[in-house]
Amino acid sequence: MNKEKLPQYDYDIIITGGGPAGYTAGIYAARAGLKALLVEGAATVSQITITDLIENYPGIPDGINGFDLMQLFKNQALKFGLETMAADVTSIKKHDSDAVIWEISAGDKTFRTLSVIAATGAEWRKLGVPGEEEFAGKGVSYCATCDGPFYREKDVIVVGGGDTALQEALFLTHFAKKVILVHRRDRLRAADILQKRAAAQKKIEFIWKANLTEVVGNNLVTGVKLTDVESGKTSEMPADGVFIFVGRIPQTALFEDLLKLDAGGYIMTDDNMQTSAAGIFAAGDCRAKQFRQVITAAGDGANALYSAELYIAALKGESY
Ligand code: NAP
Repeated sequence: MNKEKLPQYDYDIIITGGGPAGYTAGIYAARAGLKALLVEGAATVSQITITDLIENYPGIPDGINGFDLMQLFKNQALKFGLETMAADVTSIKKHDSDAVIWEISAGDKTFRTLSVIAATGAEWRKLGVPGEEEFAGKGVSYCATCDGPFYREKDVIVVGGGDTALQEALFLTHFAKKVILVHRRDRLRAADILQKRAAAQKKIEFIWKANLTEVVGNNLVTGVKLTDVESGKTSEMPADGVFIFVGRIPQTALFEDLLKLDAGGYIMTDDNMQTSAAGIFAAGDCRAKQFRQVITAAGDGANALYSAELYIAALKGESY
């Protein structure tokens, strides 16, 4: 299509999501001279901002706090002139019968755009047991960085067997007297290096093949009920805090009627981040893929933007 024949639009690209994938796409968009807007949630934050220590992001050998790393991404994007806004995106749809324009509503505004990058990430999964919601913020937490310092010389339970559970359990040993890691199997999913560190840390104890089935307390958490997976027997264990790290849920509700999702609700793409809808690309933790890391999210963001750039150039009749 020729540029002059395109219907009226506000942006070449709108990026939804303010995590590593979104901001990397933003850096590339701004440097490519595209008219781009990044919309990040008004109340939500990228999961990475609550990660205490990232020590596998290349080029930062001493490690960095997740919030600080995200701030560096943002500053870099802003330096190149990326336009951003904080608002929750409430809808994404095709504009009338136009074949090429997408309409995005965010806060009280609606924008028209030639392309979209979905970089909406994933949220912590809840256990869904009695007491979890009731004691959220009163002893139940999903963020060791935020709440760990409240548990100096106290006993805390960590639930989960992945990288997050182990990393956060290790972090909690800076404060807690004892960290009891409860896992439903007899084998951890976490990376070997984290398993070794946790095994060597005297403050961490493991309870294997058990499910946390209830959080108990008065005004604050006083303990948990654990059910043995094999015998089915339930016992109560005193604890001052419960940290739950049992995986993530992709934030893809906005896209479920527009795009092909996998069985877990993650957005399916090809190797170039193209989704099932022309003009919509996906990047980062919301995308169906094997490995969710800051580095892979950033890589997705760069790839998605490049694909979008080619798509936009073709729409404008400016392919090179
Ligand atoms: P994850 O790898 O999906 O692990 C979730 C853990 O929670 C698993 O051990 C799982 O048990 C357990 N679980 C799930 N549902 C449960 C339930 N209802 N009750 C009890 N346990 C339950 O999630 P994650 O640890 O948050 O990590 C997510 C991704 O981020 C991974 O790709 C990970 O590598 C990455 N990550 C990387 C780093 C790092 O490199 N520094 C740090 C954090 C996260 P099963 O094992 O039995 O399934």
